[in-house]
Amino acid sequence: MNSKNKEEKPSNFIRNVINEDLSSGKHETIKTRFPPEPNGYLHIGHAKSICLNFITARDYNGQCNLRFDDTNPAKEDIEYVHSIKKDIQWLGFDWNGEVKFSSSYFDKFYQCAEELISKGLAYVCFLSADETREYRGTLKQPGQNSPDRDTSIKDNLTFFRKMKSGRFKEGECVLRAKINMSSSFMCMRDPTLYRIRFETHHQTNDDWCIYPMYDFAHCLSDAIEGVTHSICTLEFQDNRRIYDWTLENLDDFNTSSRPHQYEFSRLNLEYATTSKRKLKLLVDNNYVNSWNDPRMPTISGLRRRGYTAASIRDFSERIGVSKVDSLTDIAILESSIRDDLNNTAPRTMAVINPVKLIIENYPKGKVESLIAPIHPQNEKMGSRKIFFSREIYIDKEDFIEVAPNNKYKRLAINKEVRLRNAYVVKATHFDSDNDGNIKTVYCNYDSDTLGKNPSDGRKVKGVIHYVESSKAINAEFRIYDRLFLASNPAKSDDLSSSINPDSLEIKNGFVEPSLASAKAEMAYQFEREGYFCRDSESKELIFNKTVGLRDKWNQ
Ligand code: ATP
Ligand code: MG
Repeated sequence: MNSKNKEEKPSNFIRNVINEDLSSGKHETIKTRFPPEPNGYLHIGHAKSICLNFITARDYNGQCNLRFDDTNPAKEDIEYVHSIKKDIQWLGFDWNGEVKFSSSYFDKFYQCAEELISKGLAYVCFLSADETREYRGTLKQPGQNSPDRDTSIKDNLTFFRKMKSGRFKEGECVLRAKINMSSSFMCMRDPTLYRIRFETHHQTNDDWCIYPMYDFAHCLSDAIEGVTHSICTLEFQDNRRIYDWTLENLDDFNTSSRPHQYEFSRLNLEYATTSKRKLKLLVDNNYVNSWNDPRMPTISGLRRRGYTAASIRDFSERIGVSKVDSLTDIAILESSIRDDLNNTAPRTMAVINPVKLIIENYPKGKVESLIAPIHPQNEKMGSRKIFFSREIYIDKEDFIEVAPNNKYKRLAINKEVRLRNAYVVKATHFDSDNDGNIKTVYCNYDSDTLGKNPSDGRKVKGVIHYVESSKAINAEFRIYDRLFLASNPAKSDDLSSSINPDSLEIKNGFVEPSLASAKAEMAYQFEREGYFCRDSESKELIFNKTVGLRDKWNQ
């Protein structure tokens, strides 16, 4: 990837903050981090955050850490750790040093908790979950102090150590920060710092039975790693108060170079969901086949569908960074991949709805091999061998008995078209079955039209694609539509009513022989049909449709 100079980039409010922090001398270099919870696969929204964190660090010659925010063992799995690393590398980013885990700081977090207790800033609370909710109050009503709020420092230390050594049951007590039960920010009403969970953790096994909450672990992890700019999504705006409170009250971290949190708006994509919980529901309820189902807006799903890393980075740049929540038009993502593949995808021919075309004046038994460019606008990509004979397949959609008007550019009786990379043909008659389905179309070809216009000057406007029948290879085509019917399915929790029942259409047809060795996940242009890539999870020749040639939604 080319490293772009920061001056060339459109600025955003995060770059403005960084520029100020560097020029005031607050920081000499910058460090960011991408902090996924290993509780699902990464999606296109995460890609926005990954690009923002990694590209910002790169542009300022700083560093970006990959840190797993693994403080909730009940929902986490090592499978997700592996997939997340793979997806980030595939997107083209290298994290700074080793992969980091919040769980490797559990000892330090524990010391910090004891420091807060010792300063009278945290206490062990024995209220039940229901009582805690009641005591918290509402946005309109201040909360009430827990009866345990004034427990002595000594007793709190004893209780907390007992929590750590497994002497209390799950849910029996929690460690809370002592801040302000009447704060207008609910998250500041004595938030929980630690809870008891008798769970085996994928990194620390059974070493711990108390686990820190996000609000406590996140700011400490940032500070331990020397992160300067902690970039997260807007829903954490209020939590910035607890982020600052925690660091300001700990001796090791209350420094002028401590990290600060900055929030940007998350990506919401039309006709998709970027909620990991809902994506997991789609998988668990078999609405899709897996996390990397090509219909999923996951990075692995997009990759399997033929999206390139460059197109996803380009999309992230196009949508920009702001503080306003919005719903992003899916056409922007589609145009990013279309623009990339238009330049890079090799051209090939595939017939998705085949019908036989017999060229009656072509010699029986002869198979001609022809040369076709791999990319008509880029000679450097070279050429490929295609075939031609008396029997070929064309698409059903490309033949009609009677042309509806003069503008019709495909094949019809007594009308001529050019077969892509081959000859001009004129349809003469056709066979159909009792239901009127066209079975075979017959035509004659003009042998003097290979690579040139008819010598008598007649104009042939239409071009259709084909595959020669004796060398044609059977293939399955998987054509995808939107996974959701509603543009904003996030609004509803009932997936069954918003899911598109026709999001996958399977067709069987033919591809040209050069595609027998097609590489998985590398998109080709099937001329006149769209971009397709070979499926990576199947041994057979199956092609996933990446995107059409044009934006059919905005036509
Ligand atoms: P969870 O509900 O499991 O916390 P999450 O979407 O917040 O889900 P994380 O793994 O915590 O998932 O996210 C890692 C990082 O990616 C966070 O900094 C988060 O703010 C960011 N992120 C998550 N979703 C989006 C999104 N839709 N757009 C932009 N950034 C996102
Ligand atoms: Mg999260």
